[in-house]
Amino acid sequence: MSDHVMNTYARWPVTLVRGEGCRVWDDAGREYLDFVSGIAVNTLGHAHPRLARALCDQAGRMLHCSNLFRIPEQEALADRLASLSGLDRVFFCNSGAEANEAAIKLARKYWHDRGSPRRTIITATRSFHGRTLNTLTATGQDKVKTGFDPLPPGFVHVPFGDIAAMTRAVDDHTAAVLLEPVQGEGGVHPADAAWLRAVRKLCKDAGILLMLDEVQTGIGRTGAMFAFEHAGIRPDVLTLAKGLGGGVPIGAMLAREDAAAALGPGSHGSTFGGNPLSCRAALAVLDVIEEEGLVANAREQGARLMLGLKALARTRPVIVDVRGAGLLVGAELAVDAAEIITRCREAGLLLLSAGPKVLRFLPPLNVTAAEIDRALTVLGECLPAQAKERAS
Ligand SMILES: *Cc1c(COP(=O)(O)O)cnc(C)c1O
Repeated sequence: MSDHVMNTYARWPVTLVRGEGCRVWDDAGREYLDFVSGIAVNTLGHAHPRLARALCDQAGRMLHCSNLFRIPEQEALADRLASLSGLDRVFFCNSGAEANEAAIKLARKYWHDRGSPRRTIITATRSFHGRTLNTLTATGQDKVKTGFDPLPPGFVHVPFGDIAAMTRAVDDHTAAVLLEPVQGEGGVHPADAAWLRAVRKLCKDAGILLMLDEVQTGIGRTGAMFAFEHAGIRPDVLTLAKGLGGGVPIGAMLAREDAAAALGPGSHGSTFGGNPLSCRAALAVLDVIEEEGLVANAREQGARLMLGLKALARTRPVIVDVRGAGLLVGAELAVDAAEIITRCREAGLLLLSAGPKVLRFLPPLNVTAAEIDRALTVLGECLPAQAKERAS
């Protein structure tokens, strides 16, 4: 391990060098089933030939030219995302945190332009919105904030799922509400659809922006193109990143026309954002999702995985809860997840956690039924038959 890489990650002792679909291989030639997908990024699995061809083709034409110029790939992607989401305008950036930063800027500027500045963004406890100073302040978990004072003002947190608390928090300083429809990093907690509808109504009645962070849930992950579809609502602002480029860094912030108008020329920007390569990647991802029916596959294989985990919980009582949507699934354990994750990895299944006690399953959207069944078998072998006594 190089002494020169900054020590910001607790890395696993595995070097992955190659992948194909849902499978990856390490530098010793060991094969693994990949239910991490680079943290919900490898939408099409690894080395999908359509994505690889699109990237090679684009690299041979033009990688980058700057937003000083018109970019046909960016325009085509904006049109696609607008038609899929029902929103009107797209700003492209390079990550989830940047997409949320853009949304926060848009909310403040929207109210500035109306002549009645409002600065506060309401977010939920247990949420995760990124690692920049604003997005870590928006995040409803203290562990990401410690040591980074002074944090920027303008964020208020309310309990996830509590409409009364949200209603009390809205006042004439409130610019917007920012929420994940399924809290991912916070432990895989799907929002109650009735609560999301009530939040939608509250925002509409108060004239404030409803901004959904679909950085993890967007682009088919939950068995719908966007998770907000499950609740039958539409946000005013939407952020995307992880799965959008299938492994190529790209983020996007979408908004309704009247809100988007707040960000005119010079008000925001990104050197790399929306460059030809990343947009071409996202277009290929969307093409393959459509042609291979991957949203339906995420729904079907996600249901199979949840059913399988619930069945496993009957013989492995260490699983105390199973929850999720589509292929964003969590299994809460009575013991620490870390040890189980290590055991699964040694048995050839890559999983990650969401908080200390939740196993998180994020396979590629083209995972097969046989691969789901195989993962369930490996997991079953790695879980103790009885919940272990907690060491005191
Ligand atoms: C991962 C994540 C982010 C941050 O994305 P980065 O690309 O790491 O900046 C923001 N919001 C949610 C919901 C995420 O899951």
